[in-house]
Amino acid sequence: MVFLRVTDLAESPAPPVATSAPCPSPAVAAGRSLAETTRARNAWIEIDVEALEHNLCALRAAVGAGCETVAVIKGNAYGAGIEGVAPVLEAAGVERFGVAWVSEGGQLRGLGIRRPIIVLGHSFPEDAPTAVAHDLTLTCHSLALGHALSAAAVRAGRVARVHIHIDSGLHRDGVSLDEGVALAEALRDLPGLAVEGISTHMANADEPDDSFSDAQAALFRAATERLPWVPYRHTANSATALRRAGLRFEGVRIGLALHGILPSNTPGPALRPILSVKARLARVSDSPEGDGVSYGLTWRAERPSRAGLVPVGYADGWSRHLGNRGEVLVRGRRCPVIGRVMMDQFVVDVTALPAAEEGDEVVLLGAQGGDAIRADEVAEAAGTIPWDTFASLTARLPRVFHRAGVVERVTGG
Ligand SMILES: *Cc1c(COP(=O)(O)O)cnc(C)c1O
Repeated sequence: MVFLRVTDLAESPAPPVATSAPCPSPAVAAGRSLAETTRARNAWIEIDVEALEHNLCALRAAVGAGCETVAVIKGNAYGAGIEGVAPVLEAAGVERFGVAWVSEGGQLRGLGIRRPIIVLGHSFPEDAPTAVAHDLTLTCHSLALGHALSAAAVRAGRVARVHIHIDSGLHRDGVSLDEGVALAEALRDLPGLAVEGISTHMANADEPDDSFSDAQAALFRAATERLPWVPYRHTANSATALRRAGLRFEGVRIGLALHGILPSNTPGPALRPILSVKARLARVSDSPEGDGVSYGLTWRAERPSRAGLVPVGYADGWSRHLGNRGEVLVRGRRCPVIGRVMMDQFVVDVTALPAAEEGDEVVLLGAQGGDAIRADEVAEAAGTIPWDTFASLTARLPRVFHRAGVVERVTGG
């Protein structure tokens, strides 16, 4: 069991207060129950550490031995909280991490992560010293970046590893086939530089018809045949890793599936959602027939109603598109969102729950009673995709990491 480290406590000193008024600091609560830890919080995120470990294990079994897992934890680990997620994954045996920005890689090193970190997104030549200092593997798209990395590595007495990303049809980042081959050969001879990897990314990985992946794979294979000396090849996100056994190569870049949600049109092993969003009911009030609720009064009571206030809003990443569309669970029952989602709060109809009261647990995402609200459901109601629903969750929500209901650490909030 991994309990809160002493350093975590040492790094969270009580903030200096100018007045004698007690400053309520959200106590870091290792070993306490979820209920105790969340009793007096407006809203929070719960991360089920065992579910995360289970998903990793199930996905590794699905992709098979001999293929590394590159855990993609960009965007604050898809909203789950990088400080809590990364150490769990490293301890569970993930071989590499993938991030989008150099700064995210530096953050991982600051957390003590030792495994290789691939920066999948764009980097500037100015990033080279930081990349070398933190031993980050950059995706290199230009000679200028390669020269800067080589110089920084030589100065530091290190070797900077780079990967070359081939644009095989997504037309987002990377370089063309010919450019990539020429770039790899030019970088090969630079001191302090090792061209370790070659990668691409699929455009239609989770579409019902993913046949475009065949054309992309053919182009990628042509690149690998011209660069047989580059040892590490990777092309697969969650959907490609699960749908395309032939495109797994040395490593698969898994993001969403670690969160227990499979991409559309993607069969996979049984996974467990790791992330719940919960809140405490703040106020319960009467809405007489005909009265409106929330900005614009877009919802009106068709009968005498009870309105429950949920202290979560779009400042927490809860989409404004869920106004008059989303649902939450209170006392095991679905309650519809009524009126617009505001910056810090929204209102739900709790007419069916006469006993509902301040402090009741509200589940926005996750399970309660026998029911569950999943990220794909929320995303669809908001007109978006689960990646967006997760990644939108902002820093105001504390992340409570627990193992079977026993809290291991609380970050943020
Ligand atoms: C975000 C990202 C991934 C992870 O995708 P999932 O669908 O979440 O598994 C993989 N590769 C690249 C290049 C990415 O940007």
